[in-house]
Amino acid sequence: MSNTQSNDFTEWYIQTITKAELMSYSPVRGSIIFRPDGYELWEHIQERFNLYLKSEGIRNAYFPMLIPRNFFMKEADHIEGFAPELPWVTEVGDEKLEEPLALRPTSETMIGSAFSDWINSYRDLPYEINQWANVFRWEKKTLPFMRTSEFLWQEGHTAHADEADARRRTLHVLDEYEKVAEEFLSIPVYKGQKTPSERFAGAMDTYSIEAMMKDGKAVQAGTSHYMGTKFAEAFDITYLTKENQHTHAFTTSWGISTRLLGALIMTHGDDKGLVFPPTVAPTQIVLMPVGPWKKNPAIMEKLTGLYEGFKAAGFRVRLDDSDNSPGYKFNEWELKGACLRIECGPRDLENGHAMVKARDLDDKVAVPFEELAGYVKEQLDSMPKRLLDAARARNKANEHFDIDTLADLKAHIETCKKENRPTGFVLVGWDGTEETEAKIKEETGFTTRNIPFEAPMQKTVDIVSGKPAKYTLWIARAY
Ligand code: AMP
Repeated sequence: MSNTQSNDFTEWYIQTITKAELMSYSPVRGSIIFRPDGYELWEHIQERFNLYLKSEGIRNAYFPMLIPRNFFMKEADHIEGFAPELPWVTEVGDEKLEEPLALRPTSETMIGSAFSDWINSYRDLPYEINQWANVFRWEKKTLPFMRTSEFLWQEGHTAHADEADARRRTLHVLDEYEKVAEEFLSIPVYKGQKTPSERFAGAMDTYSIEAMMKDGKAVQAGTSHYMGTKFAEAFDITYLTKENQHTHAFTTSWGISTRLLGALIMTHGDDKGLVFPPTVAPTQIVLMPVGPWKKNPAIMEKLTGLYEGFKAAGFRVRLDDSDNSPGYKFNEWELKGACLRIECGPRDLENGHAMVKARDLDDKVAVPFEELAGYVKEQLDSMPKRLLDAARARNKANEHFDIDTLADLKAHIETCKKENRPTGFVLVGWDGTEETEAKIKEETGFTTRNIPFEAPMQKTVDIVSGKPAKYTLWIARAY
């Protein structure tokens, strides 16, 4: 690759995902094609999150993509927030539609309207639905996976009899997002509450998981919203209580998107290409013959036997018997993020072993054939934790606690620039005003990430105004 992470991280990212065939650009600005390896990453995330939905009794459904304009007019904050990003269908053939239809940016309105029909009595609650879908948000600045005009996501929508139950679901999902990120994708996250200015349009409270990329920038990796009765009032979601009273339900919504693919790549990738934990990797094991293997058919026989064995055991395994040189094959599979490479040449066969190399470790290890299955399993089992620990250690080195004024922050940014190191996450005090948030953004490009549930320490003074801090906040530059 011509770009390394340290000379231009964004260029490294774009080059890597393109060369590794995760995606291609489409002719439409900001929307991308998911190539099979890219789409497969998403499929594994879907499989993982569907397990949670199933265990919670939350069913998948599908709602239409076209949303009538009048639906958006019902909740003022919602339309105000989404209006600038909404694409509209206004005509069919050469006929103008009586009512324009929006390409959904999110489905609170469509699902709220359905809930209004479906929910009648306290016996119907909680009512909990999820949909896997594409959504459209005409973003001004786009970056593949991270921020696209059309993206794939899941959106959960629930209605509850009371506030406590709705809040419980909002936070339970956030905990699950943390597990998906940390246990499944090996991406450590920072859980917390968004400030009012960063809230979802129409929500009472928004919570997020934020992840730190290798270049120190933040990614909002998932959000969960508590809506109170705002959407229930707008869409007339009412139910009859045990006491025969008509009452508004309390609703929630929550989503993770294909942005997680971007986070995965920017958390684990290196200058050789993609690095994935085996939980999501499209290729967990790649087998390849090396040396003058064509003259010695026993090598391919051995590898084919191993391949069949791994396949039968349920691994995602490839056998690369192409004519490319070993060096070329090594590079290609490192670029694509295969977790384990197993090589076998004439001498290896003679010695009764294969050479095994884990994508995230430096050394190649000779493993006797009879121990190979156990070794592979052990390596694949330990890789997620290894990647998570490595990412955690990197994060720790890029968290900053001693920046108390805007001047401190600017000095920090200057130093990082000079030393070519990430500006990272900065924990600051906040007086709770929008002015402070605006000033930080305007002068440094840092944005508020979230108010952590478990702040490593409490800050006492607002970074801009110097007034007593009401909250302790993570701020960072973000994708
Ligand atoms: P929201 O409905 O705005 O809370 O979005 C839910 C999640 O979708 C966010 O937390 C992001 O992770 C993701 N997301 C939002 N906008 C985009 C976008 N333009 N492209 C990809 N993912 C997005």
